[in-house]
Amino acid sequence: MWESYKYPQDQVVYLWEDKTLHCWFRNRPDLTLNQCRDLVEVVCAKFDIASPIVKDGRGCKQATATRYCVQMPKYARCGIVVLHEMAHVIQYDIRGDSDHEEEFMGIYICLLELYFRCSRAELERYMKQYNVRHQRLTFQDIMKLLKESKLQAALPV
Ligand SMILES: [Zn+2]
Repeated sequence: MWESYKYPQDQVVYLWEDKTLHCWFRNRPDLTLNQCRDLVEVVCAKFDIASPIVKDGRGCKQATATRYCVQMPKYARCGIVVLHEMAHVIQYDIRGDSDHEEEFMGIYICLLELYFRCSRAELERYMKQYNVRHQRLTFQDIMKLLKESKLQAALPV
């Protein structure tokens, strides 16, 4: 039914990021590629997931992530972008796919809380203002989702 169709929220997520996170943290490309790799390693260790390869993003217009590879072009090398891409990597681990919808935002918010000491209440206030939907996920919730997906993968077909 068309009433239940939800408009994909890619554009509002980017707008919300620009108007809030990138302003608050004066986000400049202030990390080296190796520092981006270090942050990726820290997140992977915390969530107990395999590390993706971090590449220099040559020829990429923007940072991108698949389950196994994060591309970090020079101008995008800052903490917020690394965490955005890591939210994709974690979501890939949970369901083999990733987008910018509620679950992705739940993971992203959790990473911002953990590594940028963002206030969840404040992030949520602005997400509401920019019509960004999100799922409320704690670190424990995400660990549970990751564990369930591992169990699922281990089940005989
Ligand atoms: Zn994204």
